[in-house]
Amino acid sequence: MKYFPIFVDLGGRRVLVVGGGEAAAQKVRLLLKTQARISVVAEELCAELRELGREGRIDAQDRPLRPSDFEETALVFAASASDELDERVAACANAREIPVNVVDKPDLSRFITPAIVDRDPVVIAIGTEGTAPVLAQGIKADLESNLPLGLGALAEQARRLRARVAEALPAGAPRRAFWRKFFLGPIRDAFLAGETRDFELGVERALEAGSDGEELLGRVALVGAGPGDPELLTLKAQRLLREADVIVYDRLVGEKVLEFARRDAKRIGVGKTPGQPSPRQIEINRTLAVEALKGQRVVRLKGGDPYVFGRGGEEQSALEALGISVDVVPGISAAAACAASIRLPLTMRGQNRAFTVLTAMTENGAAEHDWNALAQPGSAFAIYMGVGSASHTEARLLAAGIDPDTPVVVVENGTLPSERAFATRVARLSQTLASEAIKGPAIIFIGLEPAAATRVALEPAEIPHFDAAVLPFRRNRSQRLQEALQ
Ligand code: SAH
Repeated sequence: MKYFPIFVDLGGRRVLVVGGGEAAAQKVRLLLKTQARISVVAEELCAELRELGREGRIDAQDRPLRPSDFEETALVFAASASDELDERVAACANAREIPVNVVDKPDLSRFITPAIVDRDPVVIAIGTEGTAPVLAQGIKADLESNLPLGLGALAEQARRLRARVAEALPAGAPRRAFWRKFFLGPIRDAFLAGETRDFELGVERALEAGSDGEELLGRVALVGAGPGDPELLTLKAQRLLREADVIVYDRLVGEKVLEFARRDAKRIGVGKTPGQPSPRQIEINRTLAVEALKGQRVVRLKGGDPYVFGRGGEEQSALEALGISVDVVPGISAAAACAASIRLPLTMRGQNRAFTVLTAMTENGAAEHDWNALAQPGSAFAIYMGVGSASHTEARLLAAGIDPDTPVVVVENGTLPSERAFATRVARLSQTLASEAIKGPAIIFIGLEPAAATRVALEPAEIPHFDAAVLPFRRNRSQRLQEALQ
């Protein structure tokens, strides 16, 4: 290790930045996160630095550098555009034994600045001794997505509580146990979910000797897993999955999504498998409650979005009635995901002003809807759970007077490697579904024209790199669907 990582207290200390361009501004932006007094000296200052000077946030001087600029200075950054000036700055700083960094010139620098993940006061510095800045950025991006934004505020709470904890709990195991619950357990979850009351309550209970406060704070997150492609998970869904002690999941949740879970997490599958009895909703609710009341962090993982034909509302109210806190993390619902996957806009100017989402199934069989409204020209809708009752849907729509040529697009296993899409017309809906032998979950779009998106044309002459010769090779997904309809 050539460079020794340290955190320097810059509170009230002066930092000199020599240079007035973008490189200098970048350093100043970083330094503004600290309480340092920042002096910038350059013959020419960019607009941003001048503005910061006017606002009084930095001392900005547009003039040549003077030896007195180095007085009472804790750190120096050289970020001028001139090699000669940078070298002079380094020499002056070295002569006064002030640590100096010359931007992009480690040979002239006494210290280098790491890549930073900022959850102030929690700060992670990543250094590669200049060997691999791109790697450092990659590590930073990973950490950024893994560390909730509220982590810094949680650490501030710890600062506030430190004296009280020291007073209430003896040093060693009991105090460590408290902080483990605080930073890594349900107290933290309550804080990050914005449940201030649960958080305070958890802290009080955990401070009482002999009590762990955890049984109070078990919570359930209803998490939308999206349509199957694990890249369509939200950052929050990924984090909650990684942290969960127990995961209760549906059949439609993709296997790849479950790989985000810890290996030692308990997994409970509650999905319907065709031909086998499925757990009743009341049993699922009971499982969730039992695990939560043990103080476990429970993730209830659902395909798509928990609130779109996902019975999320029922699970939520069952748990809340028992006083269990529920978080809800939205997911990408199948209609949006399938549409994006096959490039089928759900609304288009001039085509449809509304987009309806409906289920073809109820507990008692095929669902009834306002078929007359759905059959109107300009109506566009997505049918969930629609394959089994497609002939019913087709007959109802035709009886309500829909144009038999209304376009239909069906997407099976949307966003998964096994995805298939077909285009047909309302009059041939059930026939097409039968001949394509659909087995996976599918969305049926009615009234959306795959070609609609091509109506807005650009002028090729105005587009750089446009080459008409390659156009025939650039057939895209919307065109292929459109051709299928002809
Ligand atoms: N909560 C889910 C819907 C659950 S209902 C959501 O928001 O997406 C189950 C229905 O969703 C299936 O019958 C099918 O119509 C649709 N569905 C779910 N995943 C799908 C996928 N990957 N591709 C196509 N349709 C899907």
